[in-house]
Amino acid sequence: MIRLFDSLERKKIDFQPLEPGKVRIYTCGPTVYNFIHLGNARPLVAFDVVARHFRARGFDVIYVRNITDVDDKIIKRAAELSETTAQVTGRFTEEFHRDVAALSCLPPTIEPRVTDHIDDIVALTERLVARNMAYASEGDVYFSVGNFKPYGQLSHQPLDELKAGARVDVGEKKRDPLDFALWKAAKPGEPSWPSPWGPGRPGWHIECSAMAEKFLGQTFDLHGGGVDLTFPHHENERAQSQGAGGEGTFARHWMHNGFVNFNGGKISKSDVSMRVLFERAFKLRIVIARHGGEAVRTFLLTTQYRHPINFEVELQGDDPATAPLRFPGLEEAERRAEYGYLTVQRLRDALAQGKPSTEESPVAPEAEGWLARLQESLDDDFNTPGALAAHGEALALVNRILDGKLAAPKDVKRRTLERLERDLRVAASELGLLEAEPAAWLAEHRQRRCDAKKIDPSWVDSRIADRVAARAAKDFARADIVRDELKAGGIEIMDTPRGPSWRVTD
Ligand SMILES: [Zn+2]
Repeated sequence: MIRLFDSLERKKIDFQPLEPGKVRIYTCGPTVYNFIHLGNARPLVAFDVVARHFRARGFDVIYVRNITDVDDKIIKRAAELSETTAQVTGRFTEEFHRDVAALSCLPPTIEPRVTDHIDDIVALTERLVARNMAYASEGDVYFSVGNFKPYGQLSHQPLDELKAGARVDVGEKKRDPLDFALWKAAKPGEPSWPSPWGPGRPGWHIECSAMAEKFLGQTFDLHGGGVDLTFPHHENERAQSQGAGGEGTFARHWMHNGFVNFNGGKISKSDVSMRVLFERAFKLRIVIARHGGEAVRTFLLTTQYRHPINFEVELQGDDPATAPLRFPGLEEAERRAEYGYLTVQRLRDALAQGKPSTEESPVAPEAEGWLARLQESLDDDFNTPGALAAHGEALALVNRILDGKLAAPKDVKRRTLERLERDLRVAASELGLLEAEPAAWLAEHRQRRCDAKKIDPSWVDSRIADRVAARAAKDFARADIVRDELKAGGIEIMDTPRGPSWRVTD
């Protein structure tokens, strides 16, 4: 049984799908006008684990994550760049896909683009107008919040408090400050589509309501997203969809992931040095280049999705614009990923030698429980730190056996390693970690480390060749000198069944 924290009910619930064996999930995708940052990466990774775990538990998962390709920010950005909005959204959709792939997120089942679904959005808006939940006003259409009684329920805010905080922006023609736009009349030079209210474009919130209904039906299992989207975006999605479909329709459960806090707090836009630092340190592309996508994913999974996670940036100097930066959390996560791949490589090397074991021999009891614990942690509201702890136990066990520290007969050890290898693949596919070919990942990792520490890999390779030659000539003193020299340069030589290999130490 999968239990999850429903942010509408504010408690953990036993998950029961609407249709047995199937789970339908919607999460809000990116607005494609810029590169995404680490905060945007968190829901991508969190709900990727949700989808993977549901699949591992035998569910048929239909996961919809949209692309918002029409929006004020896109129009502004296109004007700044002297490009069309289609050029901007096309490019940043591609860049987004590169980033999610680097995070080892599987593609959603369906990734609808708003501009392909304008008809659905217009149709939903018409239904709302017909039901008196929305009204047209000089080419705009607004949702009438006063006509939707449960408004505020999802974000747990009383209506009078919301009223106090509501305002009317310049150019808006709404009857009540709480009302929000479903359709916006076209302004000169903006992309627009025909509608019963004249040419215009959809508001942001209605897009998700229309696409979720189109692909998941009027009622579906789970809606996810960052906690920052709860109000107004998700509250408005719910108002629109239930306004059109009636009580009890739309998402049955809501899941919200916590913030990624930059240096311990939310970014203040007025703090210039913080803004400069944010640009240098928070862009996903930058941290992936520094530490690899798997380290970023690992870092995000070390905290359960619901809780805030702190991203620490260390300045190695005074000027935030130029001082070298360090990201201790990502360094730690990258070490963890390297340890994982070295372990899997070592395990596979060991299994490649010798014969597969016979079925009769048992496995060491230490190898039995960890995968179940990993999966039970994920059953418990996707508790990834618990899952990572179980995963770590398995990796440590592999090394203990290969270091000769497990007292067991040879055939039991062999069979245990085979079992660990198989179960580690299952764990990899649940967590989206250690899925790459170890040799390829380690080579890429080593190159990143060499670049960061300004080490010339060809110099290391030639020194290692010298050491091999010295050992072949039985000149062990010279071989040791070379090893010590490399060690002083931050290089550790590892003797493997495939010959000597090396890694960059800290
Ligand atoms: Zn949405």
